[in-house]
Amino acid sequence: MKMNDFDKIKEKIKQFNLERDWDKFHNPKDLLIALVSEVGELAECYRWLNPNELESVHTSPEKKKKIEEEIADIMMYLITLSYKTNIDIFKVIEDKLEKNKLRYPIDKVKGIHSNPIEGFKG
Ligand SMILES: [Mg+2]
Repeated sequence: MKMNDFDKIKEKIKQFNLERDWDKFHNPKDLLIALVSEVGELAECYRWLNPNELESVHTSPEKKKKIEEEIADIMMYLITLSYKTNIDIFKVIEDKLEKNKLRYPIDKVKGIHSNPIEGFKG
Protein backbone atom coordinates (compact mmCIF):
# COMPACT_ATOMS: atom_id res chain seq x y z
CA MET A 1 0.00 0.00 0.00
CA LYS A 2 1.29 3.42 -0.96
CA MET A 3 1.68 5.96 1.81
CA ASN A 4 -0.19 9.17 1.31
CA ASP A 5 1.03 12.55 2.52
CA PHE A 6 -0.86 12.27 5.78
CA ASP A 7 0.60 8.86 6.57
CA LYS A 8 4.07 10.19 5.81
CA ILE A 9 3.71 13.15 8.15
CA LYS A 10 2.19 10.90 10.84
CA GLU A 11 5.19 8.57 10.57
CA LYS A 12 7.58 11.53 10.84
CA ILE A 13 5.84 12.69 14.01
CA LYS A 14 5.92 9.15 15.45
CA GLN A 15 9.60 8.83 14.62
CA PHE A 16 10.37 12.22 16.15
CA ASN A 17 8.67 11.18 19.38
CA LEU A 18 10.22 7.70 19.48
CA GLU A 19 13.75 9.03 18.89
CA ARG A 20 13.36 11.27 21.93
CA ASP A 21 11.68 8.58 24.05
CA TRP A 22 8.70 10.88 24.47
CA ASP A 23 6.13 8.33 23.46
CA LYS A 24 5.87 7.20 27.10
CA PHE A 25 4.57 10.66 28.06
CA HIS A 26 1.88 10.71 25.41
CA ASN A 27 -1.26 9.61 27.22
CA PRO A 28 -4.56 11.12 26.06
CA LYS A 29 -4.90 13.49 29.03
CA ASP A 30 -1.48 15.06 28.68
CA LEU A 31 -1.74 15.20 24.91
CA LEU A 32 -5.03 17.03 25.27
CA ILE A 33 -3.52 19.50 27.75
CA ALA A 34 -0.60 20.08 25.38
CA LEU A 35 -3.02 20.55 22.47
CA VAL A 36 -5.11 23.10 24.36
CA SER A 37 -1.92 24.90 25.44
CA GLU A 38 -0.91 25.22 21.80
CA VAL A 39 -4.38 26.53 20.90
CA GLY A 40 -3.78 29.15 23.61
CA GLU A 41 -0.47 30.08 22.00
CA LEU A 42 -2.28 30.52 18.68
CA ALA A 43 -4.94 32.65 20.37
CA GLU A 44 -2.18 34.87 21.81
CA CYS A 45 -1.25 35.81 18.25
CA TYR A 46 -4.67 37.46 17.88
CA ARG A 47 -5.29 38.68 21.43
CA TRP A 48 -6.28 42.36 21.80
CA LEU A 49 -5.74 43.17 18.14
CA ASN A 50 -8.03 45.74 16.58
CA PRO A 51 -9.41 45.13 13.05
CA ASN A 52 -6.50 46.98 11.38
CA GLU A 53 -3.92 45.05 13.36
CA LEU A 54 -5.71 41.80 12.52
CA GLU A 55 -5.03 42.37 8.83
CA SER A 56 -1.35 42.95 9.43
CA VAL A 57 -0.99 39.67 11.31
CA HIS A 58 -1.27 37.77 8.05
CA THR A 59 0.80 40.13 5.91
CA SER A 60 3.75 40.42 8.29
CA PRO A 61 6.12 37.51 7.54
CA GLU A 62 7.27 37.27 11.16
CA LYS A 63 3.75 37.28 12.61
CA LYS A 64 2.47 34.86 10.00
CA LYS A 65 5.41 32.53 10.73
CA LYS A 66 4.48 32.47 14.42
CA ILE A 67 0.87 31.61 13.52
CA GLU A 68 2.04 28.88 11.15
CA GLU A 69 4.22 27.36 13.84
CA GLU A 70 1.37 27.31 16.36
CA ILE A 71 -0.92 25.66 13.80
CA ALA A 72 1.80 23.06 13.22
CA ASP A 73 2.08 22.44 16.99
CA ILE A 74 -1.71 22.02 17.23
CA MET A 75 -1.84 19.62 14.31
CA MET A 76 1.09 17.55 15.58
CA TYR A 77 -0.55 17.07 18.98
CA LEU A 78 -3.88 16.29 17.35
CA ILE A 79 -2.29 13.73 15.04
CA THR A 80 -0.39 12.20 17.97
CA LEU A 81 -3.58 12.02 20.04
CA SER A 82 -5.36 10.30 17.16
CA TYR A 83 -2.72 7.64 16.53
CA LYS A 84 -2.21 6.98 20.23
CA THR A 85 -5.95 6.36 20.59
CA ASN A 86 -6.29 4.40 17.33
CA ILE A 87 -8.59 6.98 15.82
CA ASP A 88 -8.51 7.37 12.06
CA ILE A 89 -8.61 11.14 11.87
CA PHE A 90 -9.78 11.29 8.24
CA LYS A 91 -12.49 8.69 8.79
CA VAL A 92 -13.91 10.58 11.77
CA ILE A 93 -13.83 13.87 9.86
CA GLU A 94 -15.72 12.26 6.97
CA ASP A 95 -18.25 10.79 9.41
CA LYS A 96 -18.70 14.07 11.25
CA LEU A 97 -19.13 16.02 8.01
CA GLU A 98 -21.92 13.65 6.97
CA LYS A 99 -23.55 14.05 10.38
CA ASN A 100 -23.25 17.85 10.13
CA LYS A 101 -24.83 17.84 6.67
CA LEU A 102 -27.93 16.30 8.21
CA ARG A 103 -27.82 18.58 11.24
CA TYR A 104 -27.35 21.74 9.19
CA PRO A 105 -29.34 21.46 5.96
CA ILE A 106 -28.23 24.12 3.47
CA ASP A 107 -31.76 25.46 2.96
CA LYS A 108 -32.11 26.12 6.70
CA VAL A 109 -28.71 27.54 7.59
CA LYS A 110 -27.11 29.11 4.52
CA GLY A 111 -25.50 32.43 5.42
CA ILE A 112 -26.59 32.13 9.04
CA HIS A 113 -24.35 31.48 12.01
CA SER A 114 -25.31 30.18 15.40
CA ASN A 115 -24.16 30.61 18.96
CA PRO A 116 -25.03 28.52 22.00
CA ILE A 117 -27.09 31.27 23.65
CA GLU A 118 -29.08 32.70 20.76
CA GLY A 119 -29.12 29.76 18.36
CA PHE A 120 -29.10 30.59 14.68
CA LYS A 121 -28.85 34.26 13.89
CA GLY A 122 -28.83 35.77 10.45
MG1 LIG B 1 3.69 26.42 20.24
